[in-house]
Amino acid sequence: MSRFGLWGHHVPRNFLSDWLARPSLREACFGACAHRMALGGGSRARGSPGLGLRRGCAGVQPAAPRPLQYRYRCHHGPPHRAKRLLLSQLFQPLNLREVGLESKPDDLTCKSQRLMIQAGLIYPSSPGCYYYMPYTVRTMEKLVKVIDQEMQAIGGQKLNMPSLSSAELWRTSGRWDLMGKELFRLADRHSKEYCLGPTHEETIADLIASQANLSYKQLPLLLYQITRKFRDEPKPRFGLLRSREFYMKDMYTFDTCEEAARQTYSLVCEAYCNVFNSLGFRFVKVQADTGSIGGSMSHEFQLPAGIGEDRLMICSNCSFSANVETINPDQTDCPVCKGKLSESKGIEVGHTFYLGTKYSSVFNVSFHTAQNKPVLAEMGCYGLGITRILAASVEVLSTEDSIRWPTLIAPYQVCLIPPKKGSREEMGAVLMDNLYDSIVEAVPQIKGEAVLDDRTHLTIGKRLKDANRLGYPYVIIAGKKVFDNPPEFEVWNQNTGEIMFLTKEGSWNKS
Ligand SMILES: [Zn+2]
Repeated sequence: MSRFGLWGHHVPRNFLSDWLARPSLREACFGACAHRMALGGGSRARGSPGLGLRRGCAGVQPAAPRPLQYRYRCHHGPPHRAKRLLLSQLFQPLNLREVGLESKPDDLTCKSQRLMIQAGLIYPSSPGCYYYMPYTVRTMEKLVKVIDQEMQAIGGQKLNMPSLSSAELWRTSGRWDLMGKELFRLADRHSKEYCLGPTHEETIADLIASQANLSYKQLPLLLYQITRKFRDEPKPRFGLLRSREFYMKDMYTFDTCEEAARQTYSLVCEAYCNVFNSLGFRFVKVQADTGSIGGSMSHEFQLPAGIGEDRLMICSNCSFSANVETINPDQTDCPVCKGKLSESKGIEVGHTFYLGTKYSSVFNVSFHTAQNKPVLAEMGCYGLGITRILAASVEVLSTEDSIRWPTLIAPYQVCLIPPKKGSREEMGAVLMDNLYDSIVEAVPQIKGEAVLDDRTHLTIGKRLKDANRLGYPYVIIAGKKVFDNPPEFEVWNQNTGEIMFLTKEGSWNKS
């Protein structure tokens, strides 16, 4: 967590725990609630909580000169109050396609696809193509931030290359024919041929080759983009795991010599490990085939999962693991330590290639040495499947009916559920509004991360079920104890299944 900074760029992974551990913040969040309770706002017998708040704020002085408490207690009509995010107004069309999909059960080929469609996170348009709904885009943007941070920490610079890639470049490398039907091909009005890029070795090599005065001093050069890619899958399936339009992070590196390029290669692999570790994934890095990309060394980053399309052999004794494609499929002993190999399926989420001069020689990507001699650059290329990582995390973390996200990239961090309209606890709704505002003020990073489920015509149980299905890391409920003095809220930690009772004084686990 410290790598991302507690209150830094990212929402802290366990912001509520952090919050609970800081009495001053807790105090701030509950100051107003308790205050209102004292004025009778919380009791139905004594009239409207709303009125209680207004009267109270106008007249009350802080009991003790504690500045934080004072600040949160006694401002009325605060100018900076964030607008509450109301669930009823979020575009998250639940059950959009359920009816349609029931008629074609074959469409739902895996858990992540089914859960994401049912939760309104993606919506199918044509085979292998999806609308990414706002919740999904939020998650994707958070993932992009995590990746940007790791890529930039090793010197990566972000750029953006055209999706339309000229056939000429692909003919130069020989891949126009080699790629076969996987390439989406098209022609412009002048009959010039293009493809929609599935990967950009040709494009970047052409770009760097055009920099006539590239100096050894500028190397290593690490350039990457996070863009939409296209592949004409013969059989798109598994939702975002194998789609025809997808987002990928692709990095291309240029070094002065093989030794330097191998160092860069390790550096990028390490950064990939950091990305997966910060998401909390169990992953393996395996030796892999170089396929149509080419080069002399390649690794895949795989999440072990039953649905995975890759077969892996993993040594139980040492860190050796390999894609079956790279070893004798009948091999049962580890070539490193002679330990036993066991088979597992995996979802490929990252792939790295050491390319050497395969592309730089064809496109003449060269730099000038200290002696001003032109020398071919050593290249590497590195992919991370952005949309595939999203689907893979749903695949490996979720239960059969509830999505679970790595907290760092969950679409929203917390959902607050006020009481049902017309219920005995109805008046607790205003306490919940207040808790919402107070949390957002006390923990500014939560601004934009907290959703208030204002569908108060539904029971708490029904809304809790929806929240559970969507996978907010935390759900806060105003249940029966919301009128206790001090008021008590239930906090559900969705990832651990833990339920806590939360008051101004602190929190404790339900036993
Ligand atoms: Zn071994």
